[in-house]
Amino acid sequence: MLENQVAVVTGGARGIGRAIALALAEEGAAVIINCNGSVEKAQETAREIQEAGGQAEVCPFNVADYEAVEKAFADILARHGRIDILVNNAGITRDGLLMRMKEEDFNSVIDINLKGAYHCSKWAVKAMIKQRSGRIINISSVSGVTGNAGQVNYSASKAGLIGMTKSIAREVASRGITVNAVAPGFIETDMTDVLSDKVKENAAATIPLGHFGKPEDVADAVVFLASEKSRYITGQVLHVDGGMVM
Ligand code: NAP
Repeated sequence: MLENQVAVVTGGARGIGRAIALALAEEGAAVIINCNGSVEKAQETAREIQEAGGQAEVCPFNVADYEAVEKAFADILARHGRIDILVNNAGITRDGLLMRMKEEDFNSVIDINLKGAYHCSKWAVKAMIKQRSGRIINISSVSGVTGNAGQVNYSASKAGLIGMTKSIAREVASRGITVNAVAPGFIETDMTDVLSDKVKENAAATIPLGHFGKPEDVADAVVFLASEKSRYITGQVLHVDGGMVM
């Protein structure tokens, strides 16, 4: 379905990003796996794709670093000549109640989750406009839709991503580029592994389908939004949350 397409997945070494990289590669895309700290894990993911007959390479950079992103995208374009799919997946949490939240914890979450997507989208869109085609998929969160106590920074970044999705969608629709967001609920990754059993139990009780999702549940939605099958969909937020938000 995605043969001859070049996809960039930020934070593709582990968790949801890894599942997205594997799923896009399975559909035939050449996948550029971005990572920041997890270089070895990114290489493992790339190897797994190559061993299955797919195309993958690792591209380490910090999405929060404007110049590093500009350079990385210039390199990707020099090597591949195009970027068809960008998945802005890299994200962190630095949870805490507002009154105790340190400025650095607010800033780092905004810098990586929100500004990182701006940096990557800016350079990807430049290539996509020339191609007159492209897909950008931003990984938001239910937190960005409903808000969440203890996640002032995170929910602001994820709500910001939804606004950014809609604005870029409007700017580039006439160039054949679609921009959508996916809003996962609770997904089993390192990010949710740190939650206590009690918190996990309480969270599961708020999910109509009764359990946490898997990274592959998010990846399947991303593949759809990256494919031709979603051609008439732009500026939307697709919830992958077991029915948490209706
Ligand atoms: P995770 O397992 O903690 O993985 C986070 C990923 O983000 C890692 O691959 C990490 O790469 C990357 N990353 C962090 N800072 C980065 C930076 N400065 N530059 C480049 N990459 C960076 O989290 P996850 O659960 O897979 O989350 C993936 C996305 O889904 C995030 O945006 C998250 O907010 C969102 N989400 C997750 C859930 C959930 O329940 N898990 C729910 C809603 C939304 P390195 O290890 O290489 O640093």
